[in-house]
Amino acid sequence: MICSRCGRQVDNGTAFCPMCGAQVGYTPYQKPGMGLAICALIFSFIFPLVGLILGIVGLKKYQTEGKGMCIASVIISGVLLFISIVSTAIFVPALNGYIRRAREAGNKRQETGAVVIVEDAPSYSEYIEFFGDQTTDI
Ligand SMILES: [Zn+2]
Repeated sequence: MICSRCGRQVDNGTAFCPMCGAQVGYTPYQKPGMGLAICALIFSFIFPLVGLILGIVGLKKYQTEGKGMCIASVIISGVLLFISIVSTAIFVPALNGYIRRAREAGNKRQETGAVVIVEDAPSYSEYIEFFGDQTTDI
C-alpha cells in the first residue's frame, strides 16, 4: 500500500509508515466494530432484544466492520423475538384455558362430592409394607 502522508510504498500489513510514522492501515485487532458485531451476535441468542439493538447500532455506527455479523444478529434477533412473541400469544391463552377448566372441574367435584382419583396412590400391598397390617391388632 501507499502512505497517505508521504506517498511512499509501504509493506502490506504495516500499521505505521517507516519513513514518516503516519498510520497507514488498520491492524487486524484495531477494529472496534468487530467487538460490537460479535456482542450483537452472541446477545441475539441470549437476549434477542439486546442483540437487535446492538446489531442496529453496529450497522449505523460502523459501515463495513462486522457488517455481515451485524446483519446476521439483526435477522436472528428478529426471528427469535417473533417466535417468542408468537409462542407467548399461543401459550398464555392456552394456559389460562387449562387453569379455567381445572377450576371448573374442581368446583364440580365439590358440588357433587365425587371421589377424587389420585393416580400415584400406593397399592394395598405397598400400604401394608409401609404402615403394617393394622387389622391384626383388632
Ligand atoms: Zn509515510
